Amino acid sequence: MTMTISFKELGLAQPLLQATEAIGYTQATPVQEKVIPAAISGGDWMVSSQTGSGKTAAFLLPLLNQLIAANPNGKPVPGRAEPQVLVLCPTRELAQQVSADAINLVKFARGIRIATIMGGMPYGKQISQIKGANLVVATPGRLLDLSNSRAIRLDKVKCMIVDEADRMLDLGFQDDIEAIHELCSDRGQTLMFSATFAPRIMQLATSLMNNPGRIELASAHDKHENIAQTLHWADSVAHKHKLLSHWLSDPTMEQAVVFASTQADSETIADSLRADGHEATALHGAMPQAVRNRRLQSLRKGQTRILVATDVAARGIDVPTITHVINFGLPMKAEDYVHRIGRTGRAGRSGVAITLAEHRDRSKIRAIEQYTQQPLQAEVIPGLEPSEKSRKPSHRPGSGRPGRSFGGKGASNASNRHGQGQGEGKTFKQNHFAKPSGPKFAGSGKPSSGPKFGGSGKPSSGQKRTFA
Ligand code: AMP
Repeated sequence: MTMTISFKELGLAQPLLQATEAIGYTQATPVQEKVIPAAISGGDWMVSSQTGSGKTAAFLLPLLNQLIAANPNGKPVPGRAEPQVLVLCPTRELAQQVSADAINLVKFARGIRIATIMGGMPYGKQISQIKGANLVVATPGRLLDLSNSRAIRLDKVKCMIVDEADRMLDLGFQDDIEAIHELCSDRGQTLMFSATFAPRIMQLATSLMNNPGRIELASAHDKHENIAQTLHWADSVAHKHKLLSHWLSDPTMEQAVVFASTQADSETIADSLRADGHEATALHGAMPQAVRNRRLQSLRKGQTRILVATDVAARGIDVPTITHVINFGLPMKAEDYVHRIGRTGRAGRSGVAITLAEHRDRSKIRAIEQYTQQPLQAEVIPGLEPSEKSRKPSHRPGSGRPGRSFGGKGASNASNRHGQGQGEGKTFKQNHFAKPSGPKFAGSGKPSSGPKFGGSGKPSSGQKRTFA
């Protein structure tokens, strides 16, 4: 889809137009084109949009526009903790990203203050920050704590946004969201964003919204054409480490996020990369928030080249210089694969997503392929080929899909391409993957709910698995 609508045509106030220009947004993305006028016109909306589509500005711009319209002279806001706009985010990382975007967008506006409320931060500092804030970005648990202790009142909220609603449910926030919904039940508008409109999301929507309009832009089946996706079959963890090392030495690698399945794995992989001379650091949910913040900041500043993370980092990290995402451990749910790879190829750039899988992971690979409705191209690196057994397509008895190979077409093509020779140490890529392309914001298509990996959450080695 070509992007033709400017922010001016969407009727945004002058300070917001100045800000979008200063940030470098020349035209609205498809999700912005649809959501901005809808949100300005009022009513409740549920929106499915792909990661990296520009969805944050899609909800921030119309809401900031309303705040500016309500205070045209930019009078300073009274120092009460009574926000008019509330944005709920599932993770601290996402809350920080949304706040940072909001602060950038109000650079030229007067009388608007943004505050962030999230766990892991000192209470005193947060309580003083929320005084006089008209837009609050919060994670649900800490917001309820502050509301229960009367440090914040939510009854003046006019609009509530639930960002990444699917993730909210995954993280068990349903009750908290419903409690917050009750605390701001006089509001006139609710917007809900989710990767899919799965039945559980629709159920949440029914309890939070009045007859919402639907805007569908995302699809698990979007091709992510600006992200070259590759699969490598590996014989063992040691083999995966060799493949990882190969990719991290790729000359086009500027920054990489390596995903691990467990917190312990993220530490172990980061340690082993450091021992091999790579600048790598781990990030997972058991770390104190101050450490998580420092590590993310270091990634943003380009001081960290390789972040080894659990799925806590699968959403909310918006660092355009991330060139590579490497799935060392596979995600628990197929839909998280899409969120993980969305850490690269951001803001119109191209990116590379590599998945390392052992033979025992084949059902997870199949679930990802079913979810995205695209085969993952299996490729080989000369000298690091998997044994025949590891790359052999296998058929799960009773799967009802006879003849389907786990690596998609690529599993069988890999050896053919191997013979085409493109130089020592290079992988063989299909051209349509290798070429960088222009910005691919949200496409169209019907989302579907993602299959969960049956039983894959079980500890495989007797070790306690902690995933975020
Ligand atoms: P999001 O989907 O909100 O995470 O945004 C993904 C990336 O797109 C972020 O880096 C934004 O800064 C960027 N972005 C958002 N809106 C636009 C726009 N209109 N033009 C170009 N980049 C944008």
